[in-house]
This record gives sequence, structure tokens and C-alpha cells, in this order.
Amino acid sequence: ANVRAQMGSYEERLASFAAVQHPIDPERLARAGFYSTGARDMVLCFRCDGGLKGWQPEEDPWEEHAKHYPGCSFLLAEKGQEFVNNIQLQDPRR
Ligand SMILES: [Zn+2]
Repeated sequence: ANVRAQMGSYEERLASFAAVQHPIDPERLARAGFYSTGARDMVLCFRCDGGLKGWQPEEDPWEEHAKHYPGCSFLLAEKGQEFVNNIQLQDPRR
């Protein structure tokens, strides 16, 4: 089965964190489109396949999604272009 296709469901994404110790609340990660790969704190987005790791406890899953994968169609549908633009403007690395 295609793992990424299954992970289109919030429940499936949340379940992927069952055996993982993650610095971020799994419900917040799952809501933002991420599921656990099972490798440390590495997560992937079911839609854009964007991977993120090295999470800090204060980080927000939606903000990190927008920072690193601003073209993700799930992100844009859920949060809107303005949210993504604001995150991109805040990012001092750009
Ligand atoms: Zn994405």
C-alpha cells in the first residue's frame, strides 16, 4: 500500500506517532499534515512530501510547514496564502 496516500487521513497520521517520543504534540503535527517516519523526530507531509526534523519544543508545525514548504497545496488550502506570506516575511534566513 502507498503510505503517503493512507496518511491523507488525520487519524492515520496521529496513529503514526503512537510509538514515537516527539518534542511536539502529535495532534498538532498531524493537524498540520505531518506523520512520523519512525526515525527519531523526522516527519513527512502527506501532500508535499516535505520532511522536517530537529524540532525545538517551541516550534509550531504550521509555521515550520510554511517556512520550509510554502508551495504545499494542503498548507495553502488549510491556512491560506496570507498566512504563508507572513511566515515567509518573518523568516530572517530569507
Ligand atoms: Zn506539505
